[in-house]
Amino acid sequence: MKHTLDILTAPTQLPDPIGEDAVVPYRGRKVYIENYGCQMNLSDAEVIRSILTRDGYGFTSAVDDADVILLNTCSVREHAEERVYGRLAELSSRKAGRPELVLGVCGCMAQRVADRMLDRAPYVDFVMGPDTYRNLPEALGATGGDPFLDVRLDRSEDYADILPIREEVVKAWLTIQRGCDKFCTFCIVPFVRGRERSISLASLVEEARGLGARGVREVTLLGQTVNSYDDGEHEFADLLNAVAEVDGIERVRFTSPHPSDATGAMIRAMGGNPKVCAHMHLPMQSGSDDVLRRMRRTYTVEEYLRVVDDLRTHVPGVAITTDIIAGFCGETADDHAATCDVMRRVRFDSAFMFRYSPREGAVAHKKHPDDVPEDEKIRRLREIIDLQEAVSREVYAGHVGSVVSALVEGPSKRDPSDLYGKTDDFKTCVFPGRDAQPGDIVRVRVESATAHTLIGRIVS
Ligand code: SF4
Repeated sequence: MKHTLDILTAPTQLPDPIGEDAVVPYRGRKVYIENYGCQMNLSDAEVIRSILTRDGYGFTSAVDDADVILLNTCSVREHAEERVYGRLAELSSRKAGRPELVLGVCGCMAQRVADRMLDRAPYVDFVMGPDTYRNLPEALGATGGDPFLDVRLDRSEDYADILPIREEVVKAWLTIQRGCDKFCTFCIVPFVRGRERSISLASLVEEARGLGARGVREVTLLGQTVNSYDDGEHEFADLLNAVAEVDGIERVRFTSPHPSDATGAMIRAMGGNPKVCAHMHLPMQSGSDDVLRRMRRTYTVEEYLRVVDDLRTHVPGVAITTDIIAGFCGETADDHAATCDVMRRVRFDSAFMFRYSPREGAVAHKKHPDDVPEDEKIRRLREIIDLQEAVSREVYAGHVGSVVSALVEGPSKRDPSDLYGKTDDFKTCVFPGRDAQPGDIVRVRVESATAHTLIGRIVS
């Protein structure tokens, strides 16, 4: 799954204070949520909105208007955690003039750091892990005494009965699975989000029907290893096909799959069902078997390349993107060269590339010395970024002259007189189009390209 260190969503808007499902009248208290990290946190924020709306809270996009400030945090990199501490210190000054202001932390960092957060940020009122959001109303009501701390992991918690309150109109995340059983040695997700559990296909299809009826055109199925989905009766391919059948849903995507769970049935669903998008984000992490073994990724380079070949054989026009870590424990110059070789061979459409940083609590932190010098990690990262940029530029340039279909998402950020959307294979596409509306699927002739964007014109 892609993690970024940026705040990915604007904080939420003030909704109708008493929604249809609300069971408590509006209390007159507004919550401001600030999200950090990956798509799973964005999806969790939609669950939190639902839980708090039912308990009579409203929401605001202005931190100055908030009665409750909630940081929904990420723990995947140390830098992300330091940013949260910095932000908390900044926000704490507001409490001096407004002692009734509630400041809370939830998400992966809250789970990982738990009560130690209260040592460093004693002004925090509550700390909640990802499996305890049902207790948020209790946490928000328990002010004035000791800080409220709830970081229990709960194998049975999947929030399947809570209908998320989504802000997106055209696209929606659909969390199909929580937790992870893979225990890659560099990652702390299994320790902060618990063991893998899947939500039933029937419940997910029901939710997708509601989305389709509301005008959502594209659904992204979300899970830490999304393609290991197993509700006891159905596998991932069944779910892909079932969601694709829902009226109104025109596109189905998913993120992030694990190479070891890439089955023939999944690849057949991608190749055979026109609503399943021809894009696979397939995290490789390294092109060296030795490094993959130390990472406990459970596949070899050869097995990874077999999945790539199967996708390219059976899914016409498929785009393959990836994640790569530079400078993992024990990575030699030859290991790094092997990663570059695989990148040249696969020619990924794009990649998220990071330099390794150890995470306290992850297996590698205890087992493998972080022995690649920092300047060497930076040099290797620079090399793979330069390599990928060159490949991406060629791959994107290869689309010039072709016609792609794009789901219109809204005005382009760079020039609001243009529109932007995503192609079926997950490329950003920008085009003038005053007649098209968000939610339209348009055909665009590509006239030029950068390493990250296709630029063109709508054709009839
Ligand atoms: S598959 Fe590995 S990297 Fe992904 S969430 Fe699970 S442990 Fe972390």
